[in-house]
Amino acid sequence: MPALDTFAAEKLARLDHKHLRRRLVESARADGIWVTRHGRRLLSFSCNDYLNLSQHPAVTEAAIAAIRTYGVGAGASRLVTGNHPLFSALEARLADLKGTDGACVFGSGYLANLGIISTLAGKTDLVLVDEYAHSCIWAGAEASGGTVATFRHNDLDDARNILKTQRAAHRHALIATDGVFSMDGDLAPLPALAKLAEDYDAWLLSDDAHGIGVVGGGRGSTFAHGAPADVALQMGTLSKAVGGYGGYLCASAPVIDLVKTKAASFVYSTGLPPASVAAAIAAIDYIVANPEYTARPLANARAFTRALNLPEAQSPIVPILIGAAEKALKASQDLEDKGFLVVAIRPPTVPKDTARLRVAFTAAHSEDDIARLAAAIGPHVRT
Ligand SMILES: *Cc1c(COP(=O)(O)O)cnc(C)c1O
Repeated sequence: MPALDTFAAEKLARLDHKHLRRRLVESARADGIWVTRHGRRLLSFSCNDYLNLSQHPAVTEAAIAAIRTYGVGAGASRLVTGNHPLFSALEARLADLKGTDGACVFGSGYLANLGIISTLAGKTDLVLVDEYAHSCIWAGAEASGGTVATFRHNDLDDARNILKTQRAAHRHALIATDGVFSMDGDLAPLPALAKLAEDYDAWLLSDDAHGIGVVGGGRGSTFAHGAPADVALQMGTLSKAVGGYGGYLCASAPVIDLVKTKAASFVYSTGLPPASVAAAIAAIDYIVANPEYTARPLANARAFTRALNLPEAQSPIVPILIGAAEKALKASQDLEDKGFLVVAIRPPTVPKDTARLRVAFTAAHSEDDIARLAAAIGPHVRT
């Protein structure tokens, strides 16, 4: 075997041994909450399509119409010829939803964090990150070349101590956190983090990938704490509750202009296809027009946590902690045998020994769906 193949095969074998190898499973999502895998229809609690907008006729028709008008691709970076007329309409809606002067649409949420953080922070700066923050926040922090410090999950005292000792040695400081934590479902204390940022002359970035469309009346986690939190950098994705694909930053006009000029993942990557932008416009219009609908995924998650006596859900995401990766895989398989799709989440997505079932609720799950899942998952809940 060539050395490269031996390297890959050995690495895979080691991951297999630790139950940490990942495999793609063909999954056909044809009608909302049902997923066909291995020829079987499973009731899914693993899609981030919280509002089922990926298949809403208003959204799919908007995408089809955009293809007819503009074709399937943007043709270039937005700074060259890829800035088709749909972008400004989407950015205006995003800025409006988030209450900011401007917005910038990126190719994906991952690309957004990579570009935003490395544009705003550099070698002389401090990037302070919640330990449970999403992988792309870490990627952006690393790419900045600055000092990357980690604070304990949602622990304001720990964050303050780090700022106390390290802030003065750095020119700028950026605090980055998920607004809704992707694998735990809890919210970041954004108002308190905003106060901390103010106290230490730091900038706050909140990643609202799992907040837009489902908390804060659909406006996201900045708006889920009473008065809107003072979050200078509100980023997120168009690929979860919004139903399609793409990422965004909502911020002040100068910050947006700087990011559009400097963020490498924006400048050197092709603009989103017209269909994705049109779909996001239709989805956001739907979210704005139907705030009561945006409350349903969280209400469904709360029906589930009540049924199992778990701590009350704060978002549509409910983690069921299992521990060992192998055990989490077995629990997921048991649920699949019973007709449910609840994917196991293993390290390094989550810390060692905290493998879990991650249950995600959508607007379309019925009371009966939730009750049946609770009955099936009950035996896997650690007491
Ligand atoms: C999914 C996710 C992202 C990445 O967004 P994509 O648009 O899928 O690239 C970023 N941050 C968090 C917290 C996420 O859960």
